[in-house]
Amino acid sequence: MITSTRCTLTPTSRDRIGMDPIFALHGEANRRAEAGEDILDCTMGVLMDEEGKLAVLPSVLAALAAVPVPAVSGYGPIAGDPRFREAAIEDLLGGSALARDALALATPGGTGAIYQATVNFLEPGQSLLTTNYRWGPYRDIAAHAGRGMEVFNMFRADGAFDVEAMDEAVQRQSAGQGRVLIILNFPSHNPTGYSLNEAEWEQVADVLVAASERVPVTVLVDCAYIKFGGSAITAWDAALERLLDATTVLFAWTASKAFTQYGLRVGALIACHRDAEERVQLTNAFNYTSRATWSNCNRLGIRAISDLILDPSLRSRSDEERQQLIDLLESRTSVFNKAARDVGLDWPRCEGGFFVSVFTPDPEVTAARMRDAGVFVIPINGAVRVGLCATPTRALPRLVDALAMGVGAATAQAG
Ligand code: PLP
Repeated sequence: MITSTRCTLTPTSRDRIGMDPIFALHGEANRRAEAGEDILDCTMGVLMDEEGKLAVLPSVLAALAAVPVPAVSGYGPIAGDPRFREAAIEDLLGGSALARDALALATPGGTGAIYQATVNFLEPGQSLLTTNYRWGPYRDIAAHAGRGMEVFNMFRADGAFDVEAMDEAVQRQSAGQGRVLIILNFPSHNPTGYSLNEAEWEQVADVLVAASERVPVTVLVDCAYIKFGGSAITAWDAALERLLDATTVLFAWTASKAFTQYGLRVGALIACHRDAEERVQLTNAFNYTSRATWSNCNRLGIRAISDLILDPSLRSRSDEERQQLIDLLESRTSVFNKAARDVGLDWPRCEGGFFVSVFTPDPEVTAARMRDAGVFVIPINGAVRVGLCATPTRALPRLVDALAMGVGAATAQAG
């Protein structure tokens, strides 16, 4: 028996939920599969090939193997090697006017970039703003840093982006806390797969530019799935140019999905501001935060990803390999869309990306009934998230049948 003086965790840190719910469900799926059951695990946000193996770009493995390790054994600059900072901007904004006003800082994945934005654009006690369907860790990143999270309704009844709800929330926050940090996770939103079209980006810009006349506004585009966003990738061009005249525009960029190296922990915070002096302030603030948290990032990974972006032959090789994965995901999405339509499921517009979410009156009941049938999805508020990225095409009919059964059970129970 441990005495109370030996329990030295603070009350705040005691009884934390240490296991991410997605990893917990994935673990259960694995245990049942190992025990011999025929399990379909659609929980994880990693891209699997049609044989169920992790899809990895061979060119990325080659670039990693070719890094002269002694050259990256020492500490790098806190902000990341200059070549990497150039590469991240080139990869995201190459050819766009935004690149002129951009700076980049290495972070451990997109997660590190979101943390940087949260602590530098909100004071303790203030809240970031995002859509009610959202990536789960936003709230934890904010709470852990003494900040909060508020959400606004994402979809109107007709399925379009609810820009009026966003406007109301932005106005409420402007009045209540005197600044706004909004996270927009497009294209290929996690968990719904939704991408804003050009008209929606323009409406978003209207709201945020208007708010910026009253309070400082920071827009963080979490573009974790950008390479898988299809034509939606260019939908933001004009709107972001307009936003940059009035706000700070940030991007959480990551190599995790784009280069299929989730464990490498290579990412960047890319910040755009029209004013060069403000860019110096931003650089200093970000360097300070990095030094005070993770210090340096993975220099070997940074070197390999820089080579993949800046070396023309490596770049075209990795682009070609990635294209096969993009095609695979688009084809899974169109098979899903057709099968889901045939059985009458309700889900947001989805043209590619890693995920889709299916609406249900009771996500817990739907997911539980599906698990009984050996199919694992993630219950979220108002829907279940399905990782098409982790579902081979041949398993899509089983997935859609299980979804129809699970949503049907929830609907019967609710009604
Ligand atoms: N943002 C979204 C929406 C994500 O889904 C993820 C990862 O799943 C991330 C950010 C962060 O990814 P990482 O830190 O692995 O780069």
